Amino acid sequence: MIPEIEKKSREEIKAYQESRLPGLLTYLSEHSTYYTEKFRLNNIDIKSIKTLEELLRIPVTTKDDLQRRTKDFICVEPHRIIDYNTTSGTLGEPVTFVLTENDLERLAYNEYLSLSCSDGKHEDIYQMMVTIDRRFMAGIAYFLGIRKLGAGVVRVGPGNTELQFDTFSRIRPTALITVPSYLVKMIDFAKEKGIDINKTSVKKAVCIGEPIRNNDFSLNTLGKRITDQWNINLYSTYASTEMGAAFNDCIQGRGGHHHPELIIVEFLDENDQPVGENDPGEVVITTLGVEALPLLRFKTGDICFHHHEPCACGRNTMRIGPVIGRKKQMLKYKGTTLFPPAIYDILHEIDFVENYLIEVYTGDLGTDEIMIKVGCRNHDEHYEKIIKDHFRAKLRVAPDVQVLTPEQIQGMSSPEMNRKPITFVDRRK
Ligand SMILES: [Zn+2]
Repeated sequence: MIPEIEKKSREEIKAYQESRLPGLLTYLSEHSTYYTEKFRLNNIDIKSIKTLEELLRIPVTTKDDLQRRTKDFICVEPHRIIDYNTTSGTLGEPVTFVLTENDLERLAYNEYLSLSCSDGKHEDIYQMMVTIDRRFMAGIAYFLGIRKLGAGVVRVGPGNTELQFDTFSRIRPTALITVPSYLVKMIDFAKEKGIDINKTSVKKAVCIGEPIRNNDFSLNTLGKRITDQWNINLYSTYASTEMGAAFNDCIQGRGGHHHPELIIVEFLDENDQPVGENDPGEVVITTLGVEALPLLRFKTGDICFHHHEPCACGRNTMRIGPVIGRKKQMLKYKGTTLFPPAIYDILHEIDFVENYLIEVYTGDLGTDEIMIKVGCRNHDEHYEKIIKDHFRAKLRVAPDVQVLTPEQIQGMSSPEMNRKPITFVDRRK
């Protein structure tokens, strides 16, 4: 199912989003302490803001604002809050996020649209290989979206490869929701146990948390490593707790589709000005229809390309490319600008690297320095050189490399409080 608005022209989609602005701004001015103050301090007459261009007059909201003043963002009485969760806190302290009954319904609709976009059908059975608890919003979003789709769901949770395979044979799922690097582990496990992974019932996987495509939408090393061995369709998804919305690949795999009923998206440069269509920009979002914790011009910190050509799937909505990097994680290394995903992509190419941790720190001369710690099963004296050669070939520069055991890396990358393994540690001053 594709909502009518997604098939309209770019101009009509813009006009539709603008028709939602007065309602949003009035709601914020009546219920949000933070935004009421922002409008007052900046002399913003909300009635004068009718277009997406005029929206630029309202100053942006940062993660720091949200962290420091979370309570002032909340627009509802405490008794109306149903679900409490926290943002992932990938960079900085996690923020407590809250949802009302209507917000949960909106979240279900979002995930229903997104999963439908990624070829989800009511005949499908989804194996959820991500957590539904641990204060994680995405888990409940998937569950609610699958339910709205009328599909089946089996909540296995992350890890426990044996239980994942046991579920394949018991329930015969057609779709997985997972961190894509885990699929590599599944493939290796299948080989070890003599299981033909291509004989399972699985047809597709919705991949969260890690990129599987390059900027030109071809599969990256991780994506290829999976599909070379396992004949399934991979779908990228880009989402965050703050957005309460997701951008999923359709079957064309040409970027995550925007669902204009749920969110307004801008792409901005360092001076908070819109970037051109061929330039990467920071994703800045405005939520539509959110009751408890709506956000206006919120800077996500994610740098992405955006695409507007109509898609062969029938949708004309904007498509968002893979996250090139997080603004805060940008590295200036030996004259090259670098984001951690480019480093991950190279490490995924190397068979003997089981896991890794990237540490960056400030060198003696005030420069960014990189230490790559890799976990390898059998330590071979040539490993370090092989890894450095891969980096030289791809990036022209070779960071420092330290070879450890997979267990040592795991010990460093799985602290108690985190739901996702840590792969990047920033010790820069
Ligand atoms: Zn499409």
